[in-house]
Order: sequence, then structure tokens, then C-alpha cells
Amino acid sequence: MTKKNIGTTGLLSVTLIAVMLFSLVGSCTSNDPEAITALLYSDGKPVAISIKDGKIAAVKKISDLPAGSAGLIVAPGFIDNQVNGYAGVSFTFGGGELTAEGVKKATRELWKTGVTTYIPTLTTNSNELLTKNFSILGAVKDDSALLGSIPGFHLEGPFISPVDGYRGAHPLRFVRKPDWEEFLQLNKSAGNNIIQVTLAPEMEGALDFISKCTEAGIVVGLGHHNADAQLVKEAIDRGADIATHLGNGCANMINRHINPLWPQLSDDRLMVSIICDGFHLNPEEIRVFYKVKGPGLTIITSDVTSYAALPPGKFVNVEGDTLELTPEGMVKYPAQNVLAGSASPLKKGIANIIRVTGCSLEDAVGMATRNPARLYNLDDRGEIATGKRADLVLFRMKDGEIIVEKTIVNGRVVFDREKKSI
Ligand SMILES: [Zn+2]
Repeated sequence: MTKKNIGTTGLLSVTLIAVMLFSLVGSCTSNDPEAITALLYSDGKPVAISIKDGKIAAVKKISDLPAGSAGLIVAPGFIDNQVNGYAGVSFTFGGGELTAEGVKKATRELWKTGVTTYIPTLTTNSNELLTKNFSILGAVKDDSALLGSIPGFHLEGPFISPVDGYRGAHPLRFVRKPDWEEFLQLNKSAGNNIIQVTLAPEMEGALDFISKCTEAGIVVGLGHHNADAQLVKEAIDRGADIATHLGNGCANMINRHINPLWPQLSDDRLMVSIICDGFHLNPEEIRVFYKVKGPGLTIITSDVTSYAALPPGKFVNVEGDTLELTPEGMVKYPAQNVLAGSASPLKKGIANIIRVTGCSLEDAVGMATRNPARLYNLDDRGEIATGKRADLVLFRMKDGEIIVEKTIVNGRVVFDREKKSI
């Protein structure tokens, strides 16, 4: 009896230890993917990247890639600093009311395109709608399902030029003068997570507003404006960081000497974001902007909207405006004959800038990873290095396009093209 009891206890102990060991091993393999082997985007050499607890534990050079990995490239996950919505989900208006579930859906769909960090962008609208949507975003931002993909939000407008052309597709009736009190209230509803404001420096009170943003550590973008050289200089003196989607949010007819382009291009303190979807800028504009600012001061942004990843057609948004998504992927606002954001994810812009400028893959990827990470002080991402978040994208280049094979966010595989979904 006693002997049998001891035997049972011993057996139980062994079984328990075995179960514990198995679950330990099991948890390691389920949380941390096996070492990633691919060609490093920066030098094209094979590497093995190991991951632990959501971070990059080591990056080792290896002699060859294993069979089946030919042509596979690994890069830091893409960081998109201007996402108005995605796959039917709009952060301001468009495809119905914003919900926490909608934010999660947009995030999952963006992951499929290699984006691992993005900044939801709310555009010109009523105080009520902005307050409501910022509250929803603020509440869901740190949800574990998002894996830290949203570091903060971008408010583009409503403090922009009311003039046709410069205003773009932003509704005129909601354009207003910069109002710091209103901004503070909006930021409060967002859980104090607004990390960028894009405004027009010629609006009354804009320069003081920029100073206040700078003091508060909020990135200031100049956009949808018609400021002259003196105003642009003053805005940069006060801390403006970036020209938002340079070359867009600008009237078709401008003065050849006095216009917002020259002062923003000529001041080396100002970064630029550019939309390289093939519709917003001509190749010559992209080439010139890139030659002037270089790979250190240029950010590739998508300005992607809720119409991305939807079939072509006409859409009436909640404002009653008719927008059109063409089969080529252009989002048009026919009433003003302007573009209304894009339908192309960031990966298209990265591939396009290589094609148009002849820049290296390393530089193109850096403009969509390292540069936005630096702008927003996201020290834990934007590069492949030990200790950084394991936000990685594995892709192949095919016919000048980026084909995403696998996306890893915070060490978790969130998209695998072969498995379709995770
Ligand atoms: Zn814009």
C-alpha cells in the first residue's frame, strides 16, 4: 500500500515535471517564432534573427539561406504616419461609425501589407465627431489585440487653409482658426495621445499654436497651406518639423516665385512626407523632392483611406460627398476635382520610390521605418537591432512590387501569406 502510494506520487511528479517542461517549450514556440532567416534589406546578406519576449534577441550573419527562402528579404516593419482609414474603416468619416472593432479590423488588414506601426489620422470635421472618434481610438489604442501597433494619433486639420485647392477634400464648413483650448480638449478625449498636428501657418494664431505644440512635444506638420517664405521660416523657427504630403494639399495654379514649395524644400530643418502611390505626385516631383531632402529627411507616407482594399466604385460618405475609387486605385473627389487620399498601402510607395528615383532598397525602407520612428521618438522600433521590438516584415520583390510573405508584430506572426490568416 505504502509502496504503491510512493510509486504513484513519483509517477505523478515525473508526469508533472514533464507537463511543465512541455508547456514551457510549447509557450516558447507559440510566443516567439523560430529564428527568422532571410536576406537583410540593408545589404542583401543572409541573416538569422532570433526573437525573445517580443524583442529582437540577436541578429547573426549566416552563410546561406535554408531551402525555400530564396529571395526572401527581411526589413523592419513599415511605419505609416498618415492612415485615414483602411478596408472600409474610416477614422473620421466614410464607411459608417467608428468602433473599437473597426480599429482592430483596420489594423489586421494593415498588417497584411507589412505595416506594423501606424498613426491613425483624423481630418477636418466637427468638434463633436472628432471628440467622439478620438475617444474611441484613445480607449482601444492599448488593447492587447493591437500589439502596440498604434503609438498615437495625427490631427490633420481643422486648422488649415479654407481656400479651394489648398484645402483639398477637407470640408470647408469645418475649417477653423487654430484654437489651443479646443485642441487640449480633443487631446484629452484621445487620452493625450495626439502626437502630430498638421496645420496652415498663415491661419490666425497658428504661430503661437505651433510654439505650444513644440513645448508639449507634439510634432507639427505644415500642410494644406499657402504660406510664403517668411511664414514658413517663422513656423520652422518655432518648431515645425515636417511638411505634410509635400506637393499635395496645394492649389493647381501657384505663383512661380512665391509659393509654399520653395521655402519648405530649401530649409534643411524641415522633413517632408510624400505620397508615392503613383497618382499624387509625378515622377519628376518625387525625384526633385528626394534629391533635395535626401534619404535622411524624407518620409514615405500612404495617406491611405477607408477605400483601400475595397472594390472600385462610387461611395457616398456620411457627409453626403460622392467619392470615386477608380480601377487603377485612385480616390477622386469629383466635386472639387482633387484627390481624396489614396487607396495604396505604404508598400506600393516604397516600391515606387525605388523605381522613380533609383534609390536603394535600404534607403527606401529607411524612409518608411527609421525616419518616422525618429520623428516620433519611437526608439524601440524602425530598425533591426538587438533590443528593438520584433516588428518585422518578410517579403519578396516581384516585377517591381513588394509581395509580403510574413508580418511579425511584437514577436508574433500576425500574417503568413502561405497560411492566409493566423
Ligand atoms: Zn491632407
